[in-house]
Amino acid sequence: DPRLEAISAAIRVVPDFPKKGIMFQDITTLLLDHKAFKHTIDIFVDRYRDMQISVVAGVEARGFLFGPSIALAIGAKFIPLRKPGKLPGKVISESYELEYGHDRLEMHVGTVEPRERVIIIDDLVATGGTLSAAISLLESQGAEVVECACVIGLPEVKGQHKLKGKPLYVLVEPS
Ligand code: IMP
Repeated sequence: DPRLEAISAAIRVVPDFPKKGIMFQDITTLLLDHKAFKHTIDIFVDRYRDMQISVVAGVEARGFLFGPSIALAIGAKFIPLRKPGKLPGKVISESYELEYGHDRLEMHVGTVEPRERVIIIDDLVATGGTLSAAISLLESQGAEVVECACVIGLPEVKGQHKLKGKPLYVLVEPS
């Protein structure tokens, strides 16, 4: 798919951000490139449009940049999965490991019905820890996680194609 090259080319790599040794994959430049941004959304929409998906869940913060456009196009609702303390209603919470320490994702209860079919969106998957926490949140509410989808996946994760037994769909590898 030639669109993948345009998407890959539009992602900027910033060395030593946010700390030394990290090659940060910056999708803000993808958002500046209308064609490449549209290709990204189109590929996800084509994939999920006929899969009876009624929920798109996006991971804070960069999952919020892709998820709502996909949700609107496929006729699904959008659920934000947020960092702790941001959601005003009753929440459920799931911890996950980081390189140093841990973090948490939260979701409003009552936003998803049992057996609703969900896709989870983020910009990048590295260890898969974040997406695994997202899967746990949705499954705890009885939802069916059909797939996790990311714009960028590290090669090892991309090759794996699975996360907690759920399919993982990734468009490009870091360049
Ligand atoms: P994981 O939990 O190890 O899979 O890390 C994925 C999470 O870290 C996602 O929420 C990403 O947004 C974030 N992340 C890690 N590295 C990068 C990067 O290079 N660019 C953008 N986001 C990143």
